Amino acid sequence: MARLFEGMPFDIPPTCDRCGEREETCTCPPEPEPQKEYLAPESQTARLSVEKRKKGKVVTVVSGLDPDGTDFADLLTKLKNACGAGGTVKNDTIEIQGKHIDRARETLERIGYKVKK
Ligand SMILES: [Zn+2]
Repeated sequence: MARLFEGMPFDIPPTCDRCGEREETCTCPPEPEPQKEYLAPESQTARLSVEKRKKGKVVTVVSGLDPDGTDFADLLTKLKNACGAGGTVKNDTIEIQGKHIDRARETLERIGYKVKK
């Protein structure tokens, strides 16, 4: 039986731009994210503070880092591991739950950041 719709625009399956395979059979790796240029930690000075939050919660806040020149996600992971606490990135600052000024300072300095005393 003839494929009536062959060649019609709506019969063309979506194909990969790179290998020309249909999308479901394409095995191309995902497009790499454009590499971000991060600043050297040594060129940055972090500020540490402890702030009170709702319901009596205390967080350690790392601020003063360049919003475009800092790998916040990576730094957050390192700080969470070092402090053994949860945390989040918020408005170009990193918040770690609890009071961890000393641990945070040690961690930042070990990476190479200057920390404002
Ligand atoms: Zn492909």
